[in-house]
Amino acid sequence: MGVTKVGFYGHVRQYHNLRADIDQAIHDVLESGTYVLGPQVAKFEEELARDMGTKEAVGVNSGTDALWLTFVALGIGPGDEVITVSNTFFATAEAIWLAGATPVFVDSDPKTRNIDVAKINMAITSRTKAIVPVHLYGLAADMPAVARIARANNLLVIEDCAQAVGARGDHFAIGELSDAVCLSFIIQKNLGCFGDGGAVVTNNRDLATSLRKLRNHGSLKRSYHSIGYNSRLDELHAAVLRVKLKHVDAWSELRRKHASEYNALLANSRLILPYTPPGYEHVYHLYVIECDDRDDLQAYLASRDIVALTHYPIAIHQQEGFPWGRGARVVDSLTVTEQSAARVLSLPMYPELTRPELQYTAEAIQSWAESHDTMVR
Ligand SMILES: *Cc1c(COP(=O)(O)O)cnc(C)c1O
Repeated sequence: MGVTKVGFYGHVRQYHNLRADIDQAIHDVLESGTYVLGPQVAKFEEELARDMGTKEAVGVNSGTDALWLTFVALGIGPGDEVITVSNTFFATAEAIWLAGATPVFVDSDPKTRNIDVAKINMAITSRTKAIVPVHLYGLAADMPAVARIARANNLLVIEDCAQAVGARGDHFAIGELSDAVCLSFIIQKNLGCFGDGGAVVTNNRDLATSLRKLRNHGSLKRSYHSIGYNSRLDELHAAVLRVKLKHVDAWSELRRKHASEYNALLANSRLILPYTPPGYEHVYHLYVIECDDRDDLQAYLASRDIVALTHYPIAIHQQEGFPWGRGARVVDSLTVTEQSAARVLSLPMYPELTRPELQYTAEAIQSWAESHDTMVR
């Protein structure tokens, strides 16, 4: 049967592919009687740290909490400025704000869409405390450059890796050139649990200990507290994540394979396709193209029963709900960020996407592009 529709996510297919292992893992937790901060979380943290090549991993309730609690643990708060980007999920800046600090936005690089490292220096003031690069869509930011600037100015670096678990840079690993890496395990991320989850990985043992306290009401030992929060990764989620962690590399390979097929099938269109710098391993959390009349293409695909979404059509500094107190500001102009916001479209991209679905999607885009060319002329 021919393909007639393409969804945006492969969550249920992924569950079906791993059903025996996942059902068993869930069953074992239910029978164990331990549901909070037990052996599954401890083992997942060990396995995650090993995979990421870091000394420590600390499971928390979400990627947002991973960022926020890391800022708190590192002493980033009121009076401090944190440099980041505006073309990211809202939570990146939200977590800076929640910690009491001030987000300062710099533009994105026109090719990679990650932080434009040439713009960081002009954003630095005497109040700057940290840089938060985001590995957008699954592509690592230019960490060597970020780390160089951070060292020269005595700044902390916290990587927002919510979208890029498994990614690598050119001769550098995520986690190697920073103080901490924040991950999200909400279902739609490349490593997702059935709900919310997150983690911080780091080589800083003191930071890991602080985070273990902060996530559990300031307590490492029963009945002894300082002020913290309740942000724990559940045993059920950890057990599921342990099953899925083993598959992340294979899934990344499939995502890259899909990406190169899209690249080949869309090469002749006037669309801007994702860029990967030499030596980088993109994990294509999202496959994002850019074009004029994005809304028209999105609507056309919807009419063909293909779901394409936008990440992110309203940059953070364009959000009406963003608070501009505390000296929060944009540095220079955010031209690339604003252009991207108006032009981005994310195509269906998940390991379980089939070849016919991908081809159906690419053909639909081609036929839109052709009729659109005619219309424009
Ligand atoms: C998903 C995401 C977050 C937040 O993670 P949650 O687990 O949803 O709280 C933060 N930053 C980026 C870039 C994300 O994509």
